[in-house]
Amino acid sequence: MKITDLRCTVIGRNPVLRIVTDEGIDGFSEVEPSKHYLKPHVLFYRDYILGEDPTCVERVVRKIRRLGAFKPWGSSVSAIEMALWDIAGKAAGLPVHRLLGGKVRDRVRVYNGAVRFPLDGYTPEDYAANMARMKASPENFSLIKQGVAFHGPMAASVPGFYYGDPGDGGHRIDRGALTEKGLKHLIACTEAMKEVCGDEVGLALDCGPGMLPHDVIRFARAVEHLNLAWIEDTVTGDYVPWVHADQYLEITRSTSTPIHTGEQIYLRHNFKDLIEQKAVNVIGPDPCDVGGISELKWITEYADLHGILMAPHGTGDGLFGVAALVQVCATLPDNYIAFEYPTGDPSWWYDIVDGLPDPIVEDSHIEVWDTPGIGVTFNDQARDYLPEEEKDFFD
Ligand SMILES: [Mg+2]
Repeated sequence: MKITDLRCTVIGRNPVLRIVTDEGIDGFSEVEPSKHYLKPHVLFYRDYILGEDPTCVERVVRKIRRLGAFKPWGSSVSAIEMALWDIAGKAAGLPVHRLLGGKVRDRVRVYNGAVRFPLDGYTPEDYAANMARMKASPENFSLIKQGVAFHGPMAASVPGFYYGDPGDGGHRIDRGALTEKGLKHLIACTEAMKEVCGDEVGLALDCGPGMLPHDVIRFARAVEHLNLAWIEDTVTGDYVPWVHADQYLEITRSTSTPIHTGEQIYLRHNFKDLIEQKAVNVIGPDPCDVGGISELKWITEYADLHGILMAPHGTGDGLFGVAALVQVCATLPDNYIAFEYPTGDPSWWYDIVDGLPDPIVEDSHIEVWDTPGIGVTFNDQARDYLPEEEKDFFD
């Protein structure tokens, strides 16, 4: 089998990839909607993979892996890898999880980072009310993540939260030392949310990037009695193109609150220091940023050898992302906690994709399916959402 084309279009705001072969088997994947601009970057790799056998996934990815980078520049390589696995599975007549070693669990746990409701404000009461809505969602999530501090509007919206001035959007990092008032506010909001969660629902907090290590230590120690699931991306995170393993090591050794990072990191090599130094307790690579699903699998196995837990990121990965995450997470070792459940946005995504269970999430879990490839496909309705100049994308 040979790759005859790599195509990329944008459906809604999600870049969608199609790898075409000479045997009539296609592979599909999707990139998160905040990276709607990546189409030219995806197509940059086309000439490198044409003529290759798509079922030799690693051999193909080796040709392009060095040409990627931290978020958002790892998504294109990652999405190509995921579409290759889709082809390999379809060609073998097997679900992708069978090609990754086989499923070790029949259902995978997911956590909530995408079934979100707008906050009415930034007081402890507002965070508690918002948490109550998420807790009541029909997916019955057993773990919920909320953005606080520099992740989301808290730092910029609470007057005097930190010693600095918020920027004016874009990808600038708002960053600085917390005031005593800011630290107390952060603790009060965390306590208010945990009060709602009780011990039925785990609470994780996305905090940065933008916190300074000594503030993370003060905050993490102050909330130790709340038994948080983890504190995520404090000093780095999101689009930060470095790791700072030494700073995470200092933080992690200073508190019993689990420390988490990794959603923006590209490749296993950039997890090496975090894992070998045991600089964090939990890592959360996104399969569509880290280099693909086999990259995620490798990192998880290596983390498990070092006593580090795995909670993959995925909030924007869309419905093809759900499918890819289910495939790989079914095969992960026991350090797997849950993946961040992506939703289809806008909601018509659920009309144009076939293969997902209905409902998708029951009791905070997704049943692992056994259809060939990643197990989801576009149906004919998807054509209605193609850009006018790319109506032949599926032809
Ligand atoms: Mg995050």
